[in-house]
Parts: sequence; C-alpha cells; structure tokens
Amino acid sequence: MMQLECPNCGPRNVSEFRFRGEYVERPHDGADPARRRAWAEYLYFRDNRAGVQKEWWYHQAGCGRWFLAERHTKSHAVENTRYWGGEATS
Ligand SMILES: [Zn+2]
Repeated sequence: MMQLECPNCGPRNVSEFRFRGEYVERPHDGADPARRRAWAEYLYFRDNRAGVQKEWWYHQAGCGRWFLAERHTKSHAVENTRYWGGEATS
C-alpha cells in the first residue's frame, strides 16, 4: 500500500490524498506579449516524464493543505514532500 507523507500530518495512506498534477513554475511578467509561448506552455503542456517529477498533492481527508511531492512516476517512490517554498520532509 502506497503511503505519502503530508508535511503537516506525517505518513498517511495515499487514498487520503488527491493528485493535482505536475508542478510547473508560473511565468513571470505576464503582461509582455513576447511571453505568450511561456504562458501557453504553462497552461497547456506537461512533461509527463518517466522518472522523478514534482507534483501538487492535496490532503483531502486530513488537514486540507496543499503540498509538493517529488515522486518517481514508474516506481511511485516518493523522495520527499514539502510545502511550496518550504523545506523537504525527507
Ligand atoms: Zn495533512
């Protein structure tokens, strides 16, 4: 059974969480028309890589907080979790 470590609650069954997609850094300077490509990539394109990727997760059946997890997409091994801008848990 897969477990995920919530930065607030600790390790919990993955069924308590909701996967909310790959983390993509938001483009800066959104008013610049030359940045349209960066915004299109931010909104519509994902890497969908086979390997470790950073993802958004939501602890729906727990504390209700959002956090980031670095998870290997083939083995589902979670390397660490953290709040956005925070320290990794492991
Ligand atoms: Zn939690």
